[in-house]
Amino acid sequence: MKVIVGKDLLSANAGQAGENRVLFNNNRVTVINLISAPGSGKTALLEKTAELLRGKLKLGVVVGDLYTTRDAERIERAGVTVVQINTEGVCHLTADMVARALQEVSLDQLNLLFIENVGNLVCPVSFDLGEHAKVALLSVTEGSDKPAKYPGIFREAVATVISKVDLLPYTDFDLPACLEEIQKINSDQQVFITSARTGQDLSHWCAWLEQLAAGKAKGNNLASR
Ligand code: MG
Ligand code: ZN
Repeated sequence: MKVIVGKDLLSANAGQAGENRVLFNNNRVTVINLISAPGSGKTALLEKTAELLRGKLKLGVVVGDLYTTRDAERIERAGVTVVQINTEGVCHLTADMVARALQEVSLDQLNLLFIENVGNLVCPVSFDLGEHAKVALLSVTEGSDKPAKYPGIFREAVATVISKVDLLPYTDFDLPACLEEIQKINSDQQVFITSARTGQDLSHWCAWLEQLAAGKAKGNNLASR
């Protein structure tokens, strides 16, 4: 028996991702694919980021969600253009889904576009969406062994945001061990140790985003621009 479905899916996806990237480059918008487990605070991070970058960068967000529009509504309240993709249970975004969402976005009006992937650390890594950079998000309410268990995303990401550090005293999360593990997997990566609640390290995160949007920070696919 020959099973080639997975490979076919990925090669079709790669074609569409390339088209998305051309569209992003033509509109001079930098695109981040934000990947994390469910409940790690992607939406809270984006809300705060939108507040801090107001007046500096024009932000857009494409939100992938399994069924609800709750996250999209929260981000929209922060004054950002948001398009929601309901994946109807599919556990990752595809380049095709993003292409359809982009029809609703005025890309020429934006400097930075976040694609908030479906909460899942596994298959979103395999599906290129046409982004310039993958960013991983990991909260201290998850296990600090996540990087060791899911090295794929931490290898691919140009930055990792550790979130909810205000909760660190109430968890068993071993921050030094986690940082060491990330370093072992990908020593070339930016790590931000943040709290959306207290604002910790968000100024560094936003400064890095400004650099990325200006083409001065390292991305996965920025060289081809
Ligand atoms: Mg969310
Ligand atoms: Zn999936």
